[in-house]
Amino acid sequence: MERLQKYLARCGVASRRKAEEMIVSGLVAVNGQVVRELGVKVDPERDRVTVAGRPVRPDEERIYLMLNKPPGYITGNRDPRGRKTVLALLPEGFPRVFPVGRLDYNTTGLLLLTNDGALAYALTHPKYEIQKVYRALVRGVPDARALNMLRQGVVLEDGPTLPASVDIIKVKAGNAILKIGLREGRNRQVRRMCAAVGHPVLKLERLAIGPLQLGDLPLGRYRRLTAAELKALQ
Ligand code: URA
Repeated sequence: MERLQKYLARCGVASRRKAEEMIVSGLVAVNGQVVRELGVKVDPERDRVTVAGRPVRPDEERIYLMLNKPPGYITGNRDPRGRKTVLALLPEGFPRVFPVGRLDYNTTGLLLLTNDGALAYALTHPKYEIQKVYRALVRGVPDARALNMLRQGVVLEDGPTLPASVDIIKVKAGNAILKIGLREGRNRQVRRMCAAVGHPVLKLERLAIGPLQLGDLPLGRYRRLTAAELKALQ
């Protein structure tokens, strides 16, 4: 929460003193209600602040969120088939952010959302080789040969995959849970790699992107990156 006059100053509307005058004179509304007292605090992520009827928001503020994507959401901005997008998981009126990279409709887990185009570019560009870690439940239990193929490179229709780290972390009811670390991010890559060695993916979750760990963030919830996480990314 932030004092309204401080928020207005941060949005570049006016100095704090001047913003106080604007509040007292009834120019400022929070969620449609004119506010004339000076003690009011706003939540910059949820509250809609207007000055003389025009919405204000901090221009320069860079937003970095991690979201635990639930199944049944697309990562694009809009879907011609009308499916829900992950942006629907943010509160209404939330500043514009976009997903960094993509996760399939039914893949869950760590998705980064930001309005920082430069960071998004750096994280998705193949030349930076950021490692992404997935947990995949696959049908059956890959033998040593299949594991080696996954590790060394599987030939897919768009070429062989780069070396990957692959470990079986659990076997459950005749199926295996694999931990897979990739340094590239082709479309449906984990699903295609596992299918290519005869072990189709039944469930897929992303656990980490470089230094960022999903941790215990619940499905469908988001949080801001901490200063330490942000520093580790840059
Ligand atoms: N690999 C996949 O197959 N799907 C994803 O969503 C991410 C990586």
